[in-house]
Amino acid sequence: MSEESASRTGDDGTGESGAVCDGAGESGAACDGGPEVRRLADWDADTLLDLRRQYGSPSYVLDLDRVRENYRRLAAAFPDAAVHYAAKANALGDVFEALDDEGAGVECASAGEVVRALDAGVPSDRVHYTAVNPPAVDLDTVVELWTDGVAADLTVTVGAEDTVARLATRGYDGRLCVRVNPGVGAGHHEKVQTGANAKFGVPRDRALDVAETATQAGMDVVGVHAHAGSGIHDADDLDAHREMVARVGDVAREFDAAHDLEFVDVGGGLGVPYREADAPLDLDAVADATRDALGDVDAQLVVEPGRYLVADAGVLLTDVNTVKETPDTTVLGVDAGMTTLARPAIYGSYHPIRNVTAGGDGRGEVRATVTGPICESSDVFAEDRPLAEPVRGDVLAIGNAGAYGYEMASNYNTRPRPATAVLEDGSASLARRRETLSDITTLEL
Ligand SMILES: *Cc1c(COP(=O)(O)O)cnc(C)c1O
Repeated sequence: MSEESASRTGDDGTGESGAVCDGAGESGAACDGGPEVRRLADWDADTLLDLRRQYGSPSYVLDLDRVRENYRRLAAAFPDAAVHYAAKANALGDVFEALDDEGAGVECASAGEVVRALDAGVPSDRVHYTAVNPPAVDLDTVVELWTDGVAADLTVTVGAEDTVARLATRGYDGRLCVRVNPGVGAGHHEKVQTGANAKFGVPRDRALDVAETATQAGMDVVGVHAHAGSGIHDADDLDAHREMVARVGDVAREFDAAHDLEFVDVGGGLGVPYREADAPLDLDAVADATRDALGDVDAQLVVEPGRYLVADAGVLLTDVNTVKETPDTTVLGVDAGMTTLARPAIYGSYHPIRNVTAGGDGRGEVRATVTGPICESSDVFAEDRPLAEPVRGDVLAIGNAGAYGYEMASNYNTRPRPATAVLEDGSASLARRRETLSDITTLEL
């Protein structure tokens, strides 16, 4: 789409915009932000069963209207901030288009994501590329896009001094942001805590030197950045977030004299309630803590959530193909596996699961182990999970699958990746077809 700049927030005929939302205060249903959370139980069973019939199994379903609601609710809680969507959560073109239409920027973790965001029509002044140990091909691609004018206003965020040198060698003297290592992490799993991991960002006491090096190479230092990890849920996480933001604020104030900072980016990691009993994130509390901790800085706040915008907008539909009674448990074999949705296998993550077929038809409840078809013991979605008694052919929905679902899918065991259907304005369409066996083998020479 190319008309997005004309139709950004407020021109979509609904009369809603960030400005109208200001002062509405509460997240709730204000300003089209929808409910704070969409639970798996809230999805309409008939719609999901129709989608399964139309697009096969396993299939991801993503509701773009819900993505927009999540954006609007977040933007209302951070009225002065720019919201950049962390593309790695779900890099489907339709997601970029919907969020671009809402006015979001995009935070890219690779040159590939930069290309996909630009292809979807996101203007380059809202595209940030965060170079984490960037492979040469990534820098080549990004600098070429910048040189050609395709991405003239893109911002590159560096987390190592030698990335500055590698950019300079390629002739880059555009917009640059310095990622600092805040020395404090947060997250639902140690594997996603980046804040205190030496891999990410430059040590705080080196940040100014890196900026100086970049300035001498002719680059325009416009921002500082930090990201603590993924998953601010509870008070402890919020404390870590506060500490992280305060440290970034200090760095920004140090920069102030020498550099004309446009923004201070405090990263993503806004949590979502994966368990049905988890309370939704208190966005206003996070926003207040962020503002307080940042202190006085003469630059725009940037937040870059991934999961928060897309997680509850997605479900994974999968057929039950085996029901096996064992002395310990009922084993439910489904046709999705760790190759379709990797989070449970990698992080031990909890995802809600619902038997969509068995809605209100009086079936009993079983406690089941839900497993996929992959020859790995880690190929398990849930253990001891209460579910409406399953019958072969039932359709299960796995919730909160909109973030880090398809993006982490693989072809292990020669499993073609699933289809993706999107819902928008109440109608469904196929956004990405299912892979075929020949898609996989076609690369062989
Ligand atoms: C992954 C990542 C994010 C988004 O994390 P979420 O938990 O999905 O919000 C934001 N910024 C950076 C630099 C990231 O690597």
